[in-house]
Amino acid sequence: MDSQIPISVDVILPLPLANTYTYSIPKEYASKLAVGMRVTVPVKKKIYTGIVYALHSSNKQKYELKDLISILDDYPIIRPFQLSFWEWISEYYQSFLGDVYKAALPSGLKLDSESYVELRQNFEESESALTPQQDIAVDVLLKEKKMRVNDFARVVGVKEPYSLIKTLLDKDVVVVSEYLRENYKPKKETFVRGSQKLSSDKLKNKALDELKSAKKQQQLLMHFFSLQQEAGVQEISKKLLLETANASSAILKGLESKGLLEIYQKEKSRLDLSVVETYDKHPLNKHQEKARVEITSHFKDKNVVLLHGVTSSGKTEIYIQLIEEALKKGEQVLYLLPEIALTSQLTERLKRVFGNKLGIYHSKFSDTERVEIWNNLLLDKGYEIILGVRSSVFLPFKKLGLIIVDEEHENTYKQFDPAPRYHARNAAVVLANLHAAKTLLGTATPSIESYNNALAGKFGLVELFKRHKEIALPEIIAVDIKELRRKKQMRSFFSPTMLECVDAALQKKEQVILFQNRRGYAPYVECTACAHVPKCKNCDVSLTLHKKFNALTCHYCGYTESIQHNCSKCDDGQLESQGFGTEKIEDEVRQLFPDARVARLDTDTTRTKTAYEKIIQNFQSHEVDILVGTQMVSKGLDFENVSLVGILNADNMLNFPDFRAHERAFQLMAQVSGRAGRKNKQGTVILQTSDTEHPIIKQVIANDYLSMYKQQMLERKDFNYPPYFRIINIMMKHRDMHTVIQASSKMASELRAVFGERVLGPDNPPVFRIQNLFLKRIVLKIEANASSEKAKELIRQVSKKILEQDQFKSLLINLDVDPM
Ligand code: ADP
Ligand code: ZN
Repeated sequence: MDSQIPISVDVILPLPLANTYTYSIPKEYASKLAVGMRVTVPVKKKIYTGIVYALHSSNKQKYELKDLISILDDYPIIRPFQLSFWEWISEYYQSFLGDVYKAALPSGLKLDSESYVELRQNFEESESALTPQQDIAVDVLLKEKKMRVNDFARVVGVKEPYSLIKTLLDKDVVVVSEYLRENYKPKKETFVRGSQKLSSDKLKNKALDELKSAKKQQQLLMHFFSLQQEAGVQEISKKLLLETANASSAILKGLESKGLLEIYQKEKSRLDLSVVETYDKHPLNKHQEKARVEITSHFKDKNVVLLHGVTSSGKTEIYIQLIEEALKKGEQVLYLLPEIALTSQLTERLKRVFGNKLGIYHSKFSDTERVEIWNNLLLDKGYEIILGVRSSVFLPFKKLGLIIVDEEHENTYKQFDPAPRYHARNAAVVLANLHAAKTLLGTATPSIESYNNALAGKFGLVELFKRHKEIALPEIIAVDIKELRRKKQMRSFFSPTMLECVDAALQKKEQVILFQNRRGYAPYVECTACAHVPKCKNCDVSLTLHKKFNALTCHYCGYTESIQHNCSKCDDGQLESQGFGTEKIEDEVRQLFPDARVARLDTDTTRTKTAYEKIIQNFQSHEVDILVGTQMVSKGLDFENVSLVGILNADNMLNFPDFRAHERAFQLMAQVSGRAGRKNKQGTVILQTSDTEHPIIKQVIANDYLSMYKQQMLERKDFNYPPYFRIINIMMKHRDMHTVIQASSKMASELRAVFGERVLGPDNPPVFRIQNLFLKRIVLKIEANASSEKAKELIRQVSKKILEQDQFKSLLINLDVDPM
């Protein structure tokens, strides 16, 4: 047995130098340590928390190892399959395990020196018995309120603060967060349950009998039994009981003193509702049922199925059926959405059917709530369905049966910064395989890659071309704004047709969505005299006008300056806005339709979770007539009364310099059009463009996905783009332009020696200076059927060689595998 005792441990740390770091294990810890636990270890003069990755019972290291300092957990906080998943992400997307660890864990579980610690709100010293050291910590926090972990350690006088913080967390004394964020509010609620005296039906009847002379108590007890039965649970919230029975708490107290009912406090989960009424799901229509059967039969021999169903065909209803089937088999389901913005409508729909089995996971929830979801899943305490965005692929599921990737074509599934730059759809397929689960990709406008996989037989393909109730897809009318401009018939950005249709819809008390793919007031401002365009001082981009704040803002780094009346360059001319964003359109709509109620939906109006929900709710309940918005209005939203969608300008989507621009333009326009006429009758879309003959415009009008796909595939083939080729972007950044030029040309020539013409660049990315760093980009294109491992390995080697040179020490090299 002795040889089995681990003597060294590999730990994943949030550091960008290696995947794991090795430490020796002090004897007293040897028997307690397991893979997946958190430990604290020294690195140079600092202390970090990390995750145990592997244990070794022999020591192969040549050099002396340092001891790990402490173990934070009694049991692993991640499951073994999660480590395999992290490894895949780290390998495929070329990021360190430490980066994956940082992305995977909610900050409440990460505990690093940058975290903040503070007392829980409403904390009372008398509540819990504290050790002397914990007492000191509480005193410090009472004085200092919120502290960085580092400062906390210094003031309390401990070298390793994490064990102390961990015990304080366990006692519910403190909270830890990554940023200065919203506060923790513990929610305790009073519950009522039956005592031993009510443990059988016979005893219940006896109790009721004996209460004959206390009519009010008898009634309340009857009511309690019926609530228990209705909700199928033993404990009922006191509030609910008294409210629905219309009884006083004195009556309840009476039942308690007779020893029939027990009243007690319980921490109410912040995430669920104590009693949720559930409804039956909708029966599927015949097209949906056919699709469901096809999906199920594909799953017999395929791991992934693509459901291509037109907007409003009822894909969500099919998902609901499939979720139910999975739950019946005792499996968990992950339902992925591309954006937080979409969760509220879906939460409502899913909660109605699945009640408390549903958990929601995304970053607009507080850390505490996210930790709660994590722990509940880890300890098998509930949540059979998780509805979440990208990061929910990292949760500790026990037995996933099905992953649904809704709106699978959305590029927000790809994480851009920081690393790991993973694509949640593709990662989901890998995650599903680890669980022997199935993945369903759903969309009205499949990504070229997924459709190609389906046609190639790698994915099953199920198509659904009928909307629910067979309502026709909207009629799309293209309006030539170039011609109208020439004839001076445009009223600012509105064609006469657009104005007439908006007016007609408003007359009929129908709702309108106006879509413009740009936020802010104007993309840039220009001096009327010298044509000077104010630019960001940190980035190579022009500043966007935000009129409401009277400010010019950089959409890359957030740099903001107040707008001057006169041009800062010539001091002569005035700054005039050019182009238009959603803010300006909102302004104009208010002027053009003074009686209409107008709202705007874009990143600027939805900084908080509630702001977003409010706008959606107001539109849903028809307190708003016209909703102006960016791509946010295009996605998955389901409104009954929208009869008109206006696309204000298709040109900037079509002319965007990227090989996916046309695919994306088609998807955006088809999706936003899909918001029109969903429930009652055919809707209308007015599409303003200066190029009515553009193939994409014609494909959108004809709702001809297949032609779009075929044409894009031809172009992708001609220019060596995905899905024929795989792309790896190498971004190099440095404060000094010459350094980055030197380093990038060195990198390019070393790669070229092996990969020849597959290497492009170095060139300047569209924005070549961001936050005072100069950027150079090298693009590597590798045949899709070749392995990209060799390329990744070579890039790693060359990067290492470059970074070892003194002059390139502070150079940043980022890889983006399969960039979007
Ligand atoms: P999709 O996800 O394909 O865009 P949805 O699932 O949102 O479509 O369905 C569009 C609308 O039609 C929703 O309001 C939905 O409730 C309704 N609907 C779809 N299928 C049915 C059905 N079988 N029974 C009742 N209502 C349905
Ligand atoms: Zn900037």
